[in-house]
Amino acid sequence: MTNQINSAFASLNDRALVHHSSYISGQFHPGRTGHFAVHNPADGSLLALVAEAGSTETEQAIAAAAAAFSAWSGATAAQRSALLMRWYQLMQQHQHDLARILTLEQGKPLTEAMGEINYGASFVSWFAEEAKRMNGDIIPAAATDQQILVLKQAIGVVAAITPWNFPNAMILRKAAAALAAGCTFVVKPSELTPLSALALAELATRAGIPAGVFNVVTGTDAKAIGQVLTKDSRVAKFSFTGSTPVGKTLLAQCASTVKKVSMELGGNAPFIVFDDADLASAVQGLLAAKFRNAGQTCVCVNRVFVQRPVYDAFLAQLIQATAPLKLANGLETGCQIGPLINQTAVDKIARLLDQALDQGAELLLGGAIDADLGPLFFQPTIITEVTPAMRISQTEIFGPVLCISLFDTEQEVIELANNTPTGLASYFYSRDIGRIFRVAKALHYGMIGINEASISNAAAPFGGVKESGLGREGSSYGLDDFTELKYLCLGGLG
Ligand code: NAP
Repeated sequence: MTNQINSAFASLNDRALVHHSSYISGQFHPGRTGHFAVHNPADGSLLALVAEAGSTETEQAIAAAAAAFSAWSGATAAQRSALLMRWYQLMQQHQHDLARILTLEQGKPLTEAMGEINYGASFVSWFAEEAKRMNGDIIPAAATDQQILVLKQAIGVVAAITPWNFPNAMILRKAAAALAAGCTFVVKPSELTPLSALALAELATRAGIPAGVFNVVTGTDAKAIGQVLTKDSRVAKFSFTGSTPVGKTLLAQCASTVKKVSMELGGNAPFIVFDDADLASAVQGLLAAKFRNAGQTCVCVNRVFVQRPVYDAFLAQLIQATAPLKLANGLETGCQIGPLINQTAVDKIARLLDQALDQGAELLLGGAIDADLGPLFFQPTIITEVTPAMRISQTEIFGPVLCISLFDTEQEVIELANNTPTGLASYFYSRDIGRIFRVAKALHYGMIGINEASISNAAAPFGGVKESGLGREGSSYGLDDFTELKYLCLGGLG
């Protein structure tokens, strides 16, 4: 078994990036209660056995973060910034290895994994800069002998839980801002993808980030770990990325200690093609926004609405562009779509698709597993005649299935697009400037791509409205979620 585990990582330049246990107070801790297996979704092979951690280790990690807080928050912004920049440089230096580890445990094409490593690292360099701009305020006072000052201070220990679909970037989007603000950090990554998180911990040590500032707890008892992270009074702030149902549970748990909370939850993104759109550009945008990570992203397109005059032309171009997409092991050259994460994901998509076809949707492309490649390789699929009543329109599909519907008027499509409890990302294509502003204002979403499908970057505030979440990650607003305002009233100055 050891040989099998090691062989997957044999081609890494630096095999010391692969760790198998939680990282607490600057040390990788051997497990107390056994191990869990991490598998490669492309071929089902065993990649690693990782030490189980539970509530005890989670409490230890919180204690380590609490102990480190005073010195870390008390350092100058320039000192924190320099260490973050060192961490960033190490991520850049090891980007090929980090990407390979990511593809092995998560499945996405290596080119996309490289993109994620650079995207994740970009938050570290961004917030290394922002750390130096955590400015307060001076407000005109109510009396002539007073002075009002507003300070922004690090909130304290931050706890986070992150998903498997971006095992590197979902951690760094939070950790970079938290550490820049002066907070210390404990994260529980998904049990499906702990290795990317542990590689970041290795680089944190090498960067000289002090013990206890960044901690990773790996384990399969998410509920138990989550109970501690959301209820421990030493944690001042809880930040979650994952599904809306789990987010609601964790939000309720945080009420017991009135923690500040950020929630990056699920979506149901519409993609609207108006009759004045550049169709070729809309097709390319749709491919990117749908098939990235095999359709397993929170900002993935879920529902496509095409206006009647361009419907046939758009569909013809879309089929032509989708059919040749290469489904393959993410490590294979030219791979454009990798495997889904596990059998549960495949079963869910197959069920949604069957229901839609039973209710009158029409299958134009794909629709099945590519058995020659393996049980988790779902073909890029296109269905039409999709209606709002179908489960597939109401549920985050999280797979490579394009659901197409026809519409006639702008008002009709705005109502269709907003007809969902979530509001994360949305997209539309139009070249009419009046329509662009009308539709952008009317869509109830936190993020809107207009003639653009690639909307996420460190400079932009990422987040949703309605049941897609609370708070924003990235941008100059991103530090605010990790700070508290303190108001000082100086009197007797007359
Ligand atoms: P998930 O099932 O909600 O899991 C997310 C994380 O929560 C994982 O670490 C999971 O641990 C943990 N978890 C599950 N149940 C828990 C509980 N009862 N208590 C504490 N922790 C618990 O979501 P997922 O399937 O991993 O990720 C996909 C979802 O994330 C989609 O809905 C997607 O839209 C959303 N997402 C949102 C954003 C955003 O920025 N808005 C970004 C990426 C993904 P285990 O995996 O170890 O069980």
